[in-house]
Amino acid sequence: MTGPVQGKPPEGKPLAGKVAFVAGASRGIGRTVALALAEAGASVAVAARSEQEGRVPGTIHAVAQRITDAGGRALAVPCDVTAEESVEAAVAGTVKEFGGIDVLIANAGVLWLGPVESTPLKRWQLCLDVNLTGVFLVTRAVIPHLRARGGGSLVAVTTGGVGMTDRGANAYWVSKAAVERLYLGLAVDLRPDNIAVNCLAPSRVVLTEGWAASGAGREIPPEAVEPPEAMAAAAVLLARQDASGITGTVQRSESIRR
Ligand code: NAP
Repeated sequence: MTGPVQGKPPEGKPLAGKVAFVAGASRGIGRTVALALAEAGASVAVAARSEQEGRVPGTIHAVAQRITDAGGRALAVPCDVTAEESVEAAVAGTVKEFGGIDVLIANAGVLWLGPVESTPLKRWQLCLDVNLTGVFLVTRAVIPHLRARGGGSLVAVTTGGVGMTDRGANAYWVSKAAVERLYLGLAVDLRPDNIAVNCLAPSRVVLTEGWAASGAGREIPPEAVEPPEAMAAAAVLLARQDASGITGTVQRSESIRR
């Protein structure tokens, strides 16, 4: 990397000239969101841990390549959202390459829907580390860069499970509930900086690689499934916001577009 890319931003696209950092972009929803942000004109930092194909398909390099093959601008950035130094390095590398950051999609997540009594401590901690501390770390790292641009948009991917208290409790829903509290408060803190802060969850289940690997998707009827493109379109809409637009909200992919 030799400094900010000086290429001309695509014209006539809603996110032309913007830079988006997508955490958890090697597969699943994050991959589709990254592709959609690039299609909307953003330069995209494709951030996650997978640099080589493993048990679950998808790498940051393949996603970045797909974007550049389509004429967009992308940077594959290795990033473990649970590790402070890794996050700081990924954000610094993005700023060095693209000159700043305007949008964060904090999408990296792990699933654990088991009941509380049979949840190993390490599963509980993994959920909190990735889903909550990971959002905290990437958000904290990008805020100064959005402020330097005069505004921007922070989006954390959560889940409708936060509100399903009638279905009991698990580490996953608890971690996502905490993220919603974090972001709703942050929307107030960052309003003077012209930064929109919102949460976004699928309206229905998205049958991603991660969902399939978890074994949780076997009994989902077709009408309860939505394509990842619904989250991508909603993420692009939220990425376009600043504090004068939609902020301090928890959105669902299908209802926000209506
Ligand atoms: P997925 O297919 O398992 O993808 C998860 C992504 O998170 C991958 O890119 C993975 O990349 C990344 N990730 C996991 N741990 C990470 C870490 N420590 N550091 C950096 N990246 C990490 O999951 P998905 O279904 O697309 O879910 C995406 C988001 O949507 C999650 O936050 C999930 O909770 C939320 N969500 C999904 C659904 C659904 O129906 N699928 C419903 C509600 C909410 P690496 O493994 O390469 O690091």
